[in-house]
Amino acid sequence: MGATETMRAWAVENPGPLERGPLSLRSRPMPRAEADELLVRVLVCGVCRTDLHVAEGDLPVHRPGVVPGHEVVGEVVEKGTEVTEFEVGDRVGIAWLRRTCGRCTYCRGGRENLCPRSLYTGWDADGGYAEHTTVPAQYAYRLPPGYADEQLAPLLCAGLIGYRAWLRAQVPDGGRLGIYGFGASAHLTAQVALASGVTVHVLTRSEAARSLALELGAASAGGPADRPPEPLDSAVLFAPVGDLVPVALEALDRGGTLAIAGIHLTDVPVLTYQRHLFYERTVRSVTANTRCDGQEFFRFAARHPLRVTTTPYLFEEADRALADLAGDRVRGAAILRIGSAT
Ligand SMILES: [Zn+2]
Ligand SMILES: [Zn+2]
Repeated sequence: MGATETMRAWAVENPGPLERGPLSLRSRPMPRAEADELLVRVLVCGVCRTDLHVAEGDLPVHRPGVVPGHEVVGEVVEKGTEVTEFEVGDRVGIAWLRRTCGRCTYCRGGRENLCPRSLYTGWDADGGYAEHTTVPAQYAYRLPPGYADEQLAPLLCAGLIGYRAWLRAQVPDGGRLGIYGFGASAHLTAQVALASGVTVHVLTRSEAARSLALELGAASAGGPADRPPEPLDSAVLFAPVGDLVPVALEALDRGGTLAIAGIHLTDVPVLTYQRHLFYERTVRSVTANTRCDGQEFFRFAARHPLRVTTTPYLFEEADRALADLAGDRVRGAAILRIGSAT
């Protein structure tokens, strides 16, 4: 590729409220793949709530003018000199976890998601709201068969984080799981739970999300503050609302577990030991995912076809997609159509 070649990309130039337009669509030099990286032509990029937190400055700026987007489905167009895992023309997935140190106790102990030197796509490095992007080959995913590109994109964060949250929620066999909030990640997690033989209760404010939950097989769907029809063995909080932590804890049966899936949560109100925590109820957070979780999730998705509900946007509409996500106007997962397969 010529040194002067350019591409179009959305950049977070002024992190702040969406009304002030933090993102701009710009022409940028074509990125270059490092020796261990792939250069990828982006076909589809999912729009995740974390992109909203990056754009609005809820997450501190790690790279000024960063290109958001960490649910990338693309085609390898060039590979670095050290890459042996992939070939030009391969379809790959790029997710949030971009690099880890490989040497710390977390990395060596199978918990690379906790690596203090980890780097993230669309936060520390430019992501997929662009015509081209790069990824370290060892952190790129091979994608499961049987899905269209538009269906695969949301699996790369919404699906992966939901899967990690599902594992962290420690739902017993045939147990009862409550899901608070029902966006992109939750609608995939619900299907993982249902396919595993678990009863699912969904608690969310959006009427459309409640009807989608019932369509997918949830046993009940109520408002976020409603008490589910039976005590829960486990709950996953997807809504970034700290006020729901005590609500979900009260809905748990004795010994139940609440997993909090968001990277950002508003403040948790004061908890009362007797009402919210006693009887060995557990609260756990969820931090990104390991590559191992990702590979396990994609194997699961290959065996159990997941219905991925998407709301597509044109590449040029990324700012509108984020505004719709912020306003709860997206059914399932928002995705950007960026390129078409060759
Ligand atoms: Zn590490
Ligand atoms: Zn995400």
